[in-house]
Amino acid sequence: MSLRKRVSLRNTLAFRLTLWYAGIFTVSSCIAFLLFYTLITSFFHDRTNQELLGQVNRFSTLFAAEGIESVKNAAVIEAQAAGVKKVFFRLLALNGQAFSSSNMSYWKDIPISETAIKELLRVNHPVFETISIQGRSEEVRILYAFLGPAIILQVGQAMESYSRFLDAFKGIFITTMTLLIVLAAGVGWFMARRAVSGVEAVTRTAQKISGGTLEERVPVKARGDEIDQLALTFNQMLDRIQTLLTEIKEMSDNIAHDLRSPITRIRGIAEVTLTTGRSLGEYETMAASTIEECDRLLGMINTMLMISRTESGIAPLSCEEIDLTGLVREACDLFQITAEDKGVSLSCNGPDQIHFAGDIRMLQRMLSNLIDNAIKYTPTGGSVTVSVSENDAQDVVSVKDTGIGISPGDLPRIFERFYRCDQSRDQAGIGLGLSLARAIARVHGGDITAKSGLNQGSTFTVTLPKDAKRIGPACRRQA
Ligand code: ADP
Repeated sequence: MSLRKRVSLRNTLAFRLTLWYAGIFTVSSCIAFLLFYTLITSFFHDRTNQELLGQVNRFSTLFAAEGIESVKNAAVIEAQAAGVKKVFFRLLALNGQAFSSSNMSYWKDIPISETAIKELLRVNHPVFETISIQGRSEEVRILYAFLGPAIILQVGQAMESYSRFLDAFKGIFITTMTLLIVLAAGVGWFMARRAVSGVEAVTRTAQKISGGTLEERVPVKARGDEIDQLALTFNQMLDRIQTLLTEIKEMSDNIAHDLRSPITRIRGIAEVTLTTGRSLGEYETMAASTIEECDRLLGMINTMLMISRTESGIAPLSCEEIDLTGLVREACDLFQITAEDKGVSLSCNGPDQIHFAGDIRMLQRMLSNLIDNAIKYTPTGGSVTVSVSENDAQDVVSVKDTGIGISPGDLPRIFERFYRCDQSRDQAGIGLGLSLARAIARVHGGDITAKSGLNQGSTFTVTLPKDAKRIGPACRRQA
């Protein structure tokens, strides 16, 4: 494994999770062991204490009944019976001087503790101590207690079996712990790898995408866990990006197409005039046509800019109190002549007044686009009805026509920039009017919806919320 790979492995989440897992496991096991070890040790000490106190009681009773000589004999016999390497008895004067004992050949290194005797004399209560003898592994538990007013009994008991048990316990613990830590690290590594494998899949997909393949998606395991949520969200984000990119591509194709036509026309006019034109009048006609085409181009570019600025909320809205019914009536009046010229009846209805806070110029533009479309896409003999109404929550403007209608396939796309339905291509237009209308409705906190069917007429409904809190932020600032 190269150094770089080792360093990067140490930085991985899986490695750190494994370390944490193994670390927590080790620390908790050690705490459990220490608790258990302390409990066992104190249990053994208690048991030994009880045994030593039992010896003292028996010897005290014997001393009281039969005197010191019987105690001396009993000490020898008792130690012999229990095993001279297990127990010893020593009779001491108050100054700590031994005057009798059991067989002490094995215990000759056991000292008589002055401190313990002083403590016994002070508290007049049995005193325990535990000592280790140099060169031997086991410990000795010793008890000092009064046998009579001036006689002290020192009883000692080897704790060899207990020490052996504790040593075995320690040995088993260390071996088991070593194996368990290795196992815990293995299990931790496996679990951590499993947990982060989903994240790795997301990373791999992201890498492939940055390499240029936007079709890639993260596999979703359907476990319903956080990783699946991440994968789903990531895939949704990719779907959205892909849709946006497709839209941007279509839009730039449309822009290129729509810009190319007027530029080609301008170039054609200029070329024809240059090659064939002789008179001043012909040059004036060329200049006029060029200005006309340039105005069209500028109009298109300005509309695009206005849509972008309105959608992003940076268009300078100038909000004021307006009468929405009045605004709708004015728009109808403006288009009356166009409608009459085309043989389409245009009517307008609504209450006397509806108060609304909004940008009057923008709202005029929105209404113009909708009414213009309705007349444009309604054949002679048809009708267009513009209605305005209000309820507690919102004002509603609807523009209904009996025109060519929109197919179900086109309906979801008509608000996209530059989108035009096939059946309306013979009409003038660039496919930006509805995008702008919707951007204006939205910046006022509302929206536009369309209902239509092919050859069944169309209804465009604008909803504008009354509540100042729900209108667009730019308008709210000034309302
Ligand atoms: P355009 O300049 O082409 O009218 P719009 O953005 O205003 O652009 O409209 C987009 C497309 O939606 C139109 O090209 C047309 O196909 C369709 N459309 C809009 N309004 C209507 C309507 N009232 N009736 C039928 N089709 C409509």
